[in-house]
Amino acid sequence: MKKTKIVCTIGPVTSSKQMIQKMYQAGMNGARINTAYGDLDTYKSIIEAVRENTDIPVIVDIKGPEIRIKASQDKTIAKGDILEVSFNGGDVSFNHDFYDKMNVDDIVYIDNGKIRTKVVEKNNRTLRLLSRDSGTIEDGKGVNIPNKHLSVPTFSEKDLEIIELSKKLDVEYIALSFARDAEDVENLRARTESYEVGIIAKIENFEGVENFEEILNAADGIMVARGDLGVEIKPEKVPLIQKSIIKKCNQQGKPVITATEMLESMVHQSSPTRAEVSDVANAILDGSDAVMLSGETAVGQYPVEAVQMMSRIAKETENSAKSHVEDVGYINISDTISKAIQRICQSMPIDKVVTVTRSGYTAQVIARFRIAQPIIAVTATEKVRKQLELVFGVYPVQINYHEAKDRIAFVADRLHEMKLVDNEDVVLFTAGVRTQMPHASNSIEIHKIKELRKFTSAV
Ligand code: PGA
Ligand code: MN
Repeated sequence: MKKTKIVCTIGPVTSSKQMIQKMYQAGMNGARINTAYGDLDTYKSIIEAVRENTDIPVIVDIKGPEIRIKASQDKTIAKGDILEVSFNGGDVSFNHDFYDKMNVDDIVYIDNGKIRTKVVEKNNRTLRLLSRDSGTIEDGKGVNIPNKHLSVPTFSEKDLEIIELSKKLDVEYIALSFARDAEDVENLRARTESYEVGIIAKIENFEGVENFEEILNAADGIMVARGDLGVEIKPEKVPLIQKSIIKKCNQQGKPVITATEMLESMVHQSSPTRAEVSDVANAILDGSDAVMLSGETAVGQYPVEAVQMMSRIAKETENSAKSHVEDVGYINISDTISKAIQRICQSMPIDKVVTVTRSGYTAQVIARFRIAQPIIAVTATEKVRKQLELVFGVYPVQINYHEAKDRIAFVADRLHEMKLVDNEDVVLFTAGVRTQMPHASNSIEIHKIKELRKFTSAV
């Protein structure tokens, strides 16, 4: 079994049932929908196809304060041309209104920095942009205006509709693009209060990096969104930011996804460059829970091969991933227990770790230590089971253990039936016993399964 999780962006080439099945077999653990493209009906049918053919979570990626081009038709421009962008509609406009914040000489990048422009005139709610590059302006292309606080709202109108759809379909995760501070995350939390969606904050500009600590505290997971980050901040700054973000996520046991251009050349070629292979491996060694494919699986020519390649890199590398967690004193009982489990797993032969977890938290804090043993996370709810799919080294299983008198014996018996533990296995179990408190896995039991099962007639 593979420990590193793989998130695939589902797009036109992979939205069919057959392609989803193939990518799932190749090692996909999460299906991302990039809502920069497509409409609500498309998202709904992808969510249904993922649910019918896999057991993995859906990550609906909303664009939040991200700036995008709105264009009624494609427009080709040459180097030295002036592009007119209006805030009153017109052929080319933006998805958010930030006219008042713009000044002459401001830099505006279009399409991941491929078209570099500068504001040369501002009047009548129209900007005139002088282009230093030639290219095509297309609807939905991303816009970067580095180092400027534009005060745009957290959500666009379309985002609000997508949030409603996500609620209706009870999706497992929403990813918030361009999260700027804790307030952006809390705004999403407030709109999703009635259902327990996991919120993944995407770090992709200077503000997100500056306010990272508060964003991490507010979110359930993080994405290192290197595509935009490398345009908003200089690309040479991205590698160390990546390492620092991942380390802080590991510290709190919150899942972190490293994203974008990981196997980019596989959009057109059947094998990646050596540098891309190293990038995936290094992201895993940095402590990523998951690595992500974007264009490779959304529009690429070799989507299944890209997932297979990523799985192979993961299997070759992941057992060398080391813990980057620092001991920072008491936090809660599960946190303390997780440290003890790390010590035990290093000091005696243990084959597997089983955590009976309500919210998934204990599984996450054990996983951050990158222990050698697989972590089987037993939870009673489908939502938590799917959400845990993104956590490194965790194999989530759904068992309704609530009625059992002896939870550990009961769970051991079910896992044995499911062939997830073997009679000869020595297994470390942890659970919250005689407590209703959150984050209170307060017991550790170590058993040989054959021995333990002699007691299961009593459950
Ligand atoms: P995107 O986010 O693919 O939604 O733009 C990821 C990134 O910017 O890296
Ligand atoms: Mn982005």
